[in-house]
Formats: sequence, structure tokens, C-alpha cells
Amino acid sequence: MKNKLNNIIQPPDYLGMLGGGQLGRFFTISAQKMGYSVLVLDPDKKSPAGKIADKHLCKTYDDLGALDELKLTCKVVTTEFENIPYETLKYLEKDIDVRPGSKAVSIVQNRIREKNFLRDCGCPVGQFIVIDSFASIKNINEQDNIFPAILKTAQFGYDGKGQIHVKSKIELEDAFKGFNNTPCILEEKLDLDLEVSLVLSRTSKGNFEIYPLIENQHVSGILDLSIIPARIHSSVKEQATILAKKISNKLDYVGVMAVEFFVSKDILYVNEIAPRPHNSGHFSIDTCTYNQFDQQVLILAGRELEKPAIKFPIAVMLNLLGDLWFRSDKQKEPRFELIAGEGISLHLYGKEEPRVGRKMGHVTILGLKNQSQKDVIKKAESIRKILWEN
Ligand code: ADP
Ligand code: MG
Repeated sequence: MKNKLNNIIQPPDYLGMLGGGQLGRFFTISAQKMGYSVLVLDPDKKSPAGKIADKHLCKTYDDLGALDELKLTCKVVTTEFENIPYETLKYLEKDIDVRPGSKAVSIVQNRIREKNFLRDCGCPVGQFIVIDSFASIKNINEQDNIFPAILKTAQFGYDGKGQIHVKSKIELEDAFKGFNNTPCILEEKLDLDLEVSLVLSRTSKGNFEIYPLIENQHVSGILDLSIIPARIHSSVKEQATILAKKISNKLDYVGVMAVEFFVSKDILYVNEIAPRPHNSGHFSIDTCTYNQFDQQVLILAGRELEKPAIKFPIAVMLNLLGDLWFRSDKQKEPRFELIAGEGISLHLYGKEEPRVGRKMGHVTILGLKNQSQKDVIKKAESIRKILWEN
């Protein structure tokens, strides 16, 4: 039943989660810590969140029986990934609260709608062209100077998947064919000085909590390292905050959201929006009194946000991809016992099968007393070396 009066949901009532990945798992941990019960819908019977949820509906996202059961169990539901079918959110929204709502998710789950939305609300974005037919390729003007560029499928891309770098119209045609002519966006390839992201929480009353700006380093399109706080001028931090708030207000957003930015030749561009907590925000688990998943729980339960007081202002997060399990010819467990120590916090997501490019966990390295940001970055690199060389 819909929580029409915006009543607060009290523990041990159920909160619903669509998706059972690592983000759903951290949400479940936060919710259970606060006394809530969690229902996870995910078709994978070994999903990281499904394994620890109070109830795991092991069904597909369009299974109406499962969605009806979810509605009977939960007054409110959220999602941990943007590729959730729009129809699922609409179906749930008829009877229960969906936060963030289907309208916001439908914009950010499609790169064409997302980029148009960003441009229309006055956010700086790099040059882009919608590619939805061979005619749209023919119409590209040489004077547009879009090449070198990146062709991205409008939907279902993540961790650099669904992207091909192209240098000419001929390469673009091949790439578009490679994607079976599915609608795409062509983005000019920016010369990146830096990538940063901002995680913010917004309640239905329009109140915000914002975490410090994060500096991100990617390898092959996948987040590798996050450095907190971002090493960038405070004016850029202010501009990123203004843009993220504006985006969330325009989307009438309720929930936790991340905005990814590019910095190129000292100009800040919005890259994309994630309608959920973000991998780059994982530092908050170990450094803040209220982490990004705690805020997600509070918003979902209709409660007010808590100030995420910062216990460790300096931190580095190192992602652990499945590649680490294949550092020699044979599959081999990493020697995590070698990196244990003060200020080092290891998180593994409970995924049974390591695969190259799969996010298996992360390590947060905390800046302890008298340690500079440089020291902490160095320590993170030495931890990476230990893991890879043993
Ligand atoms: P995903 O959904 O996979 O995160 P992104 O659009 O964020 O997709 O792309 C992944 C990464 O690829 C970015 O973080 C950045 O490192 C690189 N990238 C993407 N688009 C561009 C671009 N237009 N110019 C330069 N680098 C880009
Ligand atoms: Mg991205």
C-alpha cells in the first residue's frame, strides 16, 4: 500500500531494493543496521545483496507476480542500477512509493535523454550528436570537429561497456553496425585533465546533504582509484555543487544521486548522472558517520538526512577487479592478509566468480594523523603492488 501521507516507515518494516549487486548489498547492510528488513528482487540466486537480504525474490524485473509480492511486503522501493525497466517502475509506482521516481530514472537511463536534459537545463556538456540511423552519420559536418569521438549506446552501457572510440565517419559507420544500429550518442573525445564526481542526497522536502568532491581515475573505462578530497581548486568544487543541486532539483529527485564530471582545459563538463549511490562514494562507508547508503535508507524511510560528519577527511579508494584473481596463469586468491593494518579497510562483495573487469571489492586507505594526501596515495599504490606481486 502506498505511503500516501508520507508517513515515516519504522523498523522492522520492509524496504524494497530492485537489484542485488554490491550497491544493493551495502544498502541492505545499512538498512539492517538501522533495524529495517530488506526485500531484494534480483534474478540471480547468488546475487551479493540477495544472499544477505531478509527476503530475496529470485525473479526477473518484469515478473508481475514478483512485483505484486514486493508491493504487498514494502511501502517503498528503490533501485541500485539505472537499467531497471521503466515499465517496472511505473507498475510499482501505481501502488507504492518509488524513490527516485520513474521519471528521473527514465531520463538518466538513456544517454540521449540525459544529454538533452543536461543541455536544456543549462549544464555544460561536451559536444554530442545523436546517431540513430546511417543518415545521421551522413549528416555529420566535417566542420563540427567531433572526431576523435566515442560512440556510446544510448542504453545499457556501464563500466565503459557499449562504447567504441572512432576517428572518422567510416569508423563510425562500422561501430554503429557493430551495435546493430541501436540508438547511440556520439561524443567528442575530451582531453581530460581530471575526472571528478559528487554524491548528494535529496529528500522529498528538497533538503540536501553533500559529500566532498571525489577525484576519479579510470582504467579502460572502469573506475580504478578515487582520491578524497579531489585535488582541484575550490571554485571548481563550488561549481560542481551548484550544478549537482540544480540537476537534482530539475529532476525533482528523491534519493541518493551521483554526478560524474570531466575537467578539460580548466572547464567543468557534466559527464553523466547515476540515480543511486556510486562506486566513487564508497569512501563514505569508512570515513563518515553517515555513509551514502545510510542516507539512501533514511530517504527511503521518509526520514530526514543526517549530517555525514567526516572522521577522516583524506582517503583513497582502490577498486579490486576480478583481474587480480588472474594475476598468474592459474586462478589464485589474492593474499589479503598481507595488506591488513591500521587505516586499511577491505570490503569484498561476496561474488563467487571472479571475472576480468568484474568489481569484486575495494580497499579504503584512510589518512591517519600527520599523513598528507601524498602519503595516502603512495600507500594505496604500495597496497596495489603487494596484492599484484604476491
Ligand atoms: P560508464 O557508464 O561506463 O561509466 P562513461 O560515459 O562515464 O560511461 O565513460 C566511462 C569513462 O570513459 C569515463 O569515466 C572517461 O574516463 C571515459 N570517457 C567517456 N566519455 C568520454 C569523453 N567524451 N571524452 C573523454 N573520455 C571519456
Ligand atoms: Mg561513468
